[in-house]
Amino acid sequence: MTKADAPPAAGLYVHVPFCRSKCRYCDFYSLPSISLVPEWLRALEQEAILYRDRFASFDSLYLGGGTPSLLSTGALARLVEILAGHFDILPDAEVTLEANPNDVTPERLRRYRELGFNRISLGVQSLEDGELAFLGRRHSALQAARAMERVRASGFPAFGVDLIYGLPGQTGAAWRRTLRKTVSFAPDHISCYQLTVSRGTPLWSMQQGGLIDPLDEDQERLLFLTASEVLTGQGFVHYEVSNFARGDRYVCRHNMKYWERTPYLGLGPSAHSFQGNTRWWNHRSVRRYCRDLGGGKRPVRGSECLSDEQASLEKLALELRTKAGVSIRDLRDSEKGDRALPGLLEAGLLEVIGERAVPTREGFLVADRLPLLFL
Ligand code: SF4
Repeated sequence: MTKADAPPAAGLYVHVPFCRSKCRYCDFYSLPSISLVPEWLRALEQEAILYRDRFASFDSLYLGGGTPSLLSTGALARLVEILAGHFDILPDAEVTLEANPNDVTPERLRRYRELGFNRISLGVQSLEDGELAFLGRRHSALQAARAMERVRASGFPAFGVDLIYGLPGQTGAAWRRTLRKTVSFAPDHISCYQLTVSRGTPLWSMQQGGLIDPLDEDQERLLFLTASEVLTGQGFVHYEVSNFARGDRYVCRHNMKYWERTPYLGLGPSAHSFQGNTRWWNHRSVRRYCRDLGGGKRPVRGSECLSDEQASLEKLALELRTKAGVSIRDLRDSEKGDRALPGLLEAGLLEVIGERAVPTREGFLVADRLPLLFL
């Protein structure tokens, strides 16, 4: 097989299912205790063994959660040892650790570098104390600012920040303050996620009980456009609906795999994987995950195999989320694509760049609805 024929390197994701406490909006699976870390690590090694021959190599590793920075550096070292022992992680891989602002001391940052991490993704969420308290985050704006300063000073090759917008009552001015202040710490990557009130979370109960009102659509739109204008004005590229990078070099390689439909393997409770046209996902409960693996069984809760038609629709929907956009030739090959394209260009939702139809800022705003116009 020549290099050109070789399958693209896959992405490796590890879900660290532990947090100090639960944030009010959080729908990710995690336990507010670290007592099961040793058991989880043993199970994770079993899971790695079960998948070791299924993926040739990985050029990204992403530790997400949960709160990976809650693990002791000893536990992290063991985790890295397990992964390196069972998988071919390429020497130039992007290796990301998600961290909470409270956890990043200079000493820990040094250890993370020694363990091979070359990218930190810091969960700042907001730089307004009232908003952080509302979200149930454990850090203050000052702690977040100090953490960003520390990460920047630690010499990490890539530094990303996660922010949340769309809180009830959030003003454009408050959001602008968070964005501007974040930029002042010179991160390489910023993700701006719109707050989702998911069923079963404390925020959901507050909303059901009439204690908070969701933001209206016009204000959501304004906050989205504010993020895009402020960050692109500061030199960031708005490369995906929720993501901004200080140039191509800082685009998150791991997350691009989800949008480009490159294979990825997810290890840990609730992790998702994708290969060929098949997607599968693990049980959410740590105990169930450990029990299955203790019995030599894959902890898979469900799977789906997409038909060719479903796969091409999914490809289209994902391409319409990024600046890579869609091949105009592919669109013109389909009757519906050919019919929808002129209207979308005229409405300013797509623009032509070279051979591709690429979403504009307004197009990103309606990214979820765009694919429906091609059906
Ligand atoms: S730290 Fe992250 S994963 Fe943990 S509860 Fe908060 S939002 Fe959820």
